Amino acid sequence: MEPYRFCPRCGAPLEHLPMSGRYRNVCVQDGCGFVHWDNPLPVLAAVVEYQGQLLLARNALWPEKMFALVTGFMERDETPELGVARELKEETNLDTVSAELIGVYEFMRKNELIIAYHVKAEGEIRLSEELAEYRLVAPEKMKIWNAGTGFAVADFLERRGLPVRFFDRATGEDIPDPRRPTDFSLVGASLQYGINQN
Ligand SMILES: [Zn+2]
Repeated sequence: MEPYRFCPRCGAPLEHLPMSGRYRNVCVQDGCGFVHWDNPLPVLAAVVEYQGQLLLARNALWPEKMFALVTGFMERDETPELGVARELKEETNLDTVSAELIGVYEFMRKNELIIAYHVKAEGEIRLSEELAEYRLVAPEKMKIWNAGTGFAVADFLERRGLPVRFFDRATGEDIPDPRRPTDFSLVGASLQYGINQN
């Protein structure tokens, strides 16, 4: 998302100023006080189990052969479980039987946070206009892409003792498992690109 240049509350130009540990776009008009915090937006993602297979979908705007999880933004006043079930219904017409949390994953490239569920679903698949096509893949044949939603698929498969195979979307070649444990020594570095509070 492009940074705001004008205050969405009062229309004054925003200034780039230190605020709570980082530079942020801030409104300095008297009595306004708007701050664009720019925190990541939560996105719901579904590893959909349907008739014993996993459902992958291709967004109408994506290149041929690029399939991924059903995803969507949370709405206000909605729990993540109901949100993921709503997205699945809107995009595929499937009904959710259960939704179990797999994990939470970074998607810094788009300043989003992925909340991934294993969704057991039933019904008849009818795609919305947002989706161009779908695939049903046997879990043991799944190939995983190197991105946040792919890591959710990997964790899902791994916990079931199924093979975890990553591939490069650009070349189609197999690649080593790119998942890494969190390096907590990076906390200090993440503070350094903020500012001194005093
Ligand atoms: Zn303002």
